[in-house]
Amino acid sequence: MKALRLFGPHDLRLVEEPRPVPLANEALLRVRAVTICHSDIHYYRDGRIGDTKSTAPLVLGHEFAGEVLQVPQAATHLHIGDLVAVEPAVSCGHCRECREGNPNICANLLFSGTPPLDGALREYITYRPEFCFPLPADFTPEEGALLEPLGVALYAWDLGHLRLAESVAIIGCGPIGLLLVQLARQAGAAHALAVEPLAYRRNMAAMWGGIPLIPDDNLENEASRITEGHGVDLAIETAGTLEGQEEAVRLVKRGGTVLLVGIPPEDRIDVTHHIARRKDLNIHVVRRMKHTYPRAITLVQRGMVELSPLITHSFPLAQAAEAFPIVSDYADEVIKAVITP
Ligand SMILES: [Zn+2]
Ligand SMILES: [Zn+2]
Repeated sequence: MKALRLFGPHDLRLVEEPRPVPLANEALLRVRAVTICHSDIHYYRDGRIGDTKSTAPLVLGHEFAGEVLQVPQAATHLHIGDLVAVEPAVSCGHCRECREGNPNICANLLFSGTPPLDGALREYITYRPEFCFPLPADFTPEEGALLEPLGVALYAWDLGHLRLAESVAIIGCGPIGLLLVQLARQAGAAHALAVEPLAYRRNMAAMWGGIPLIPDDNLENEASRITEGHGVDLAIETAGTLEGQEEAVRLVKRGGTVLLVGIPPEDRIDVTHHIARRKDLNIHVVRRMKHTYPRAITLVQRGMVELSPLITHSFPLAQAAEAFPIVSDYADEVIKAVITP
């Protein structure tokens, strides 16, 4: 089969290698769609995310859907030919955190496309069936792949505990930010401020009811005006920048909640301490997601969240390497690039 392997920063190569053979407790999937995420870009550009280094050559890709080709008999929820979305985080199920219901902070977590586990940018992949979620008949493989970032957005949304008619600021309108804008509308937010430097992304946020705002010197005044001087009840940072963290702390109300979802390349949290302290803020640094796939599927099935408009670019596996500089540079009005092996 063909696989795209990262040999070092900016060094992706299409290689030919044997098709993986499933273990007795694994399913075999034909990969149908992989969407590129900025955490893939971290590996592509820097060879690392935070303190996790890519031990080259690694197959990237953790947002994906595949077709079931082979399945262990015990996995009665899967059938040959099913299109499935795959939860990329493989939790152990028996550590203390897993037993307490928090697989997102599993002590033995493996993650698709993060060393040592190869990801999905290849034609075939083996996976444990309990992490595969069969999709309704009208789902596309692209939508299946995007259930992963939707899950991240949904988990963050849950943590915000926003009540009806309260206000939220979403800092950064990449894919997860845009999904949060959609969730804010569904959840009855009075105002969803969509802070984003790129005009085409602001326009997209506005399409889903976000109030587009440019992160300039006037941002705090604008947010204050919209919220009648109070600040937003909830601020969610999805930009993955230190500026975004600071904006979240500045836009939120006294006693409000800040969720840090983005992964900054500097690997630091950097906010003005006296602002956060005087506001008595609740700051939550979010680790991925848990238990979100069934609800994410329902949101899409019921038309409460749209995923297809996020796909702006599509490449076959042979041209997959072309997607990386586009996503990395925010070129060509990209939101999500999908690879269809
Ligand atoms: Zn991702
Ligand atoms: Zn565990």
